Amino acid sequence: MTRFVTRRRAIAAAAILAVLLALLFVTFEISKAACWQLIGTPVCKVETDEKLIALTFDDGPTPLGVDAVLPVLERYGAHATFFLVGQEMEWHPGQAQRLVAAGHELGNHSFYHQRMWGLFPGSYEAEIRRTDALLRAAGQPNPHFFRPPNGKKLTGLPIAVARAGYTTVTWDYEDQMTGPSARAFADTTLARVKPGSIVVMHVMYKPGQVQRDALPLILEGLKARGYRVVTVGELLKHAR
Ligand SMILES: [Zn+2]
Repeated sequence: MTRFVTRRRAIAAAAILAVLLALLFVTFEISKAACWQLIGTPVCKVETDEKLIALTFDDGPTPLGVDAVLPVLERYGAHATFFLVGQEMEWHPGQAQRLVAAGHELGNHSFYHQRMWGLFPGSYEAEIRRTDALLRAAGQPNPHFFRPPNGKKLTGLPIAVARAGYTTVTWDYEDQMTGPSARAFADTTLARVKPGSIVVMHVMYKPGQVQRDALPLILEGLKARGYRVVTVGELLKHAR
């Protein structure tokens, strides 16, 4: 009898554990969905018939990334949206200003770039506000696009984003963090984008060399296909 009860308890415990693991998995999957979130709607692409693409760069600003991409974007007459980390703006003063001066748009990518779920409610808002002040000081008028670090969000972050007057912007194509070569990387990107796509690239740190090398190839390919590269703000103006 005792052995029977112990076995039943073990089965019940295993079932509870399985349910908890399943819930954890579902929560994780929901947190990183690019085009859907529990509260509000993130912008992951724009419905348009015009051949427009928004190119976005996450993280930094670092002198390495800014030095590499500014001249390339200028050469192709492309304007991009840079989602910057507040702490990095403090570490590298003047870099965000360079981006604004070149006609690019700045977005908010939090202050510490930490996991943004399971935090104290006030923390989300503090991260957004601190970075918002730095973006304004760098010359970005009325910053209002927010990109969650690592694309992760549940409920606390979307609420804080809406309260701060921001819109969550994700992507419909994310660069592969490592690629075999700049050419292969560019070809994969070019094959995946369509009118209204929002592309995210990571060019700010040392491991992003393939991405930095691929940028002119991507811009050349987009130009050949008749695309114009614009900021997220500009892309939204062309929504159907
Ligand atoms: Zn990031």
